[in-house]
Amino acid sequence: NTALTATDLAAWLHRCAALMEAHAEELTSLDAAIGDADHGANMSRGFRAVDGIADDAAAGGPAALLKKAGMTLVSTVGGASGPLYGTLLLRMASAAGDAESLDAAALGEAFAAGVQGVADRGKASPGEKTMLDAWTPALEAYRGAGDDLAAAATAGAAAAAQGREDTAPLTATKGRASYLGERSVGHIDPGAASTALLWQALAETVTG
Ligand code: ADP
Ligand code: MG
Ligand code: MG
Repeated sequence: NTALTATDLAAWLHRCAALMEAHAEELTSLDAAIGDADHGANMSRGFRAVDGIADDAAAGGPAALLKKAGMTLVSTVGGASGPLYGTLLLRMASAAGDAESLDAAALGEAFAAGVQGVADRGKASPGEKTMLDAWTPALEAYRGAGDDLAAAATAGAAAAAQGREDTAPLTATKGRASYLGERSVGHIDPGAASTALLWQALAETVTG
């Protein structure tokens, strides 16, 4: 039964940075439709900074890495997504505690704590057309897939991608997109799209 060390988690964050960079234009065009057209820039800037600290921070173990990565996102991303993803990683760090590595169950506990952190910080629930609409089904699929990390991450990534698509018919009631009300219908939420990339990166890291 495999478990992710801090080095493996750093590999995940590096992969996240590469995907955010590669998909920056797509994330920005989603945000142009229902927000302020900066989500691609926000995510690529934030994860470029995370990319830069990850290897050094990994020397301190999983929690130290996740904490430093979360703080880096909070301090480098101006938009709503910075504090939200930052909180996610900080709560994951607390959940990781002093573990040397995280197996599928421990990573699931950490994600659950992180997703609760996003909900608390954003005062949001699933169905409000936010990143939670990708996180929630992803976490459920991940935990339902059992204790094989590769199988669970792959299931989580598929559910996150579906959750991203399923934000289109929703009416936004949180964040900038909520200013559009009904006019947000028909558009994919940019934060749900970046969350799907984080899961894609995880699946690629643990299967690759
Ligand atoms: P900003 O809206 O400040 O420009 P970004 O464009 O980087 O920030 O991020 C927007 C994304 O953040 C949205 O697509 C949504 O997924 C997420 N988001 C915004 N507000 C909330 C909230 N209150 N709760 C959860 N997610 C939110
Ligand atoms: Mg924006
Ligand atoms: Mg903005």
